[in-house]
Amino acid sequence: MVIKPKIRGFICTNAHPVGCAAHVQEQIDYIKQQDKIEDGPQRVLVIGCSTGYGLASRITAAFGAGAKTLGVCFEKEPTERKTATAGWYNTAAFHDAAHAEGLYADTINGDAFSDEIKAETIAKIKSHLGKVDLVIYSLASPKRKDPDTGEVYSSTLKPVGKAYTTKTYDTDKDQVKEITLEPATEEEIADTIKVMGGEDWERWLQALADADVLAENAKTTAYTYIGKELTWPIYGHATIGKAKEDLDRAATAIRGEHRELNVEAYVSSLKALVTQASSAIPVMPLYISLIYRVMKEEGTHEGCIEQIYGLFSKGLYGDEPILDGAGRMRMDGKETNEETQAKIKALWDKVNQENFHQLADYEEYHADFLKLFGFGMAGVDYEADVDPQVDWS
Ligand code: NAD
Repeated sequence: MVIKPKIRGFICTNAHPVGCAAHVQEQIDYIKQQDKIEDGPQRVLVIGCSTGYGLASRITAAFGAGAKTLGVCFEKEPTERKTATAGWYNTAAFHDAAHAEGLYADTINGDAFSDEIKAETIAKIKSHLGKVDLVIYSLASPKRKDPDTGEVYSSTLKPVGKAYTTKTYDTDKDQVKEITLEPATEEEIADTIKVMGGEDWERWLQALADADVLAENAKTTAYTYIGKELTWPIYGHATIGKAKEDLDRAATAIRGEHRELNVEAYVSSLKALVTQASSAIPVMPLYISLIYRVMKEEGTHEGCIEQIYGLFSKGLYGDEPILDGAGRMRMDGKETNEETQAKIKALWDKVNQENFHQLADYEEYHADFLKLFGFGMAGVDYEADVDPQVDWS
């Protein structure tokens, strides 16, 4: 079939297998051009491995440090008439590239929050990796079924305390408009923490330790976004921010719980970027379009792969980690420094329907959005008939 993007609201409902493979290869090529990560991880588990920051982590571990990688993701496989999700094609392409270099790569597709998938993962670690020395926790999910009670919790993206009126960009209607977001209830806050907080990260580490597949001196990190004043009302100080605060609690708990193994647990704060998860958050498309403009002018723009290579080479496996007062690894300084934020704020105050395309770099935002689904990649023939039925082995 000939595959063209089908965009519905903030999501693209199909993906291009050849384009996704090209997108994965672009990230592999970037890593291969960088210095090798000395004393990097060797046996890596990536939970949320198929897109965004998790995929970049997997690529960095494999091609930057020569690591064996086992991934967990939640993706839809293709049918004769429907394409798979992008993460499916990304995973197939990653496997091919890793196997071509003799690197072990395997992936489990299923609900990472469940005990069944944890057990399946542990069985694979036992038979193929022995133990893992790095666990990346990079899930972004709207819901979670509690494996103990069977109850399903949903996360919400709402302010905390009071309603918040702000500008947003409606990508569907090409419209800058005002929106008012009503504050979350206590229950919505608690439910968001249940989904996106640290409980499942802790559960993974406990399951790995109990099964004796967590190596001594293993490292683990979960990803957060902290941001600044412009995004605090909808992110940092909002429901999702409350869940992310819970990661700080979980990092301390994991270090304490697995002291005998000397496990290092970090929350790593990354910059705002276009991913499937962030494009669903109100305000973020507008904010990210503006930071693209500012950071490109400053020459500080980075994508997922650059951020994660920096995290591994300087932070997790380097001697230049930037730690904040809470012990988090900060990779977001080029976005959150006062000078850059002041420039973004000046644009934010000015931006309206008339000047949006002059002030913001929406074209670049949109191009990056399409790339997430394998569209708009140079060198890919989008008129060609392609078979959507790609499998991974
Ligand atoms: P993403 O949507 O690109 O990736 C999410 C991953 O989680 C995918 O691999 C998906 O398959 C997997 N997943 C979702 N639900 C699952 C489930 N139930 N079981 C198994 N796998 C599941 O998201 P992303 O933006 O890369 O986010 C990853 C992490 O990085 C999140 O914690 C996010 O908050 C954080 N982060 C994102 C940004 C940003 O701007 N995008 C910035 C800083 C931090």
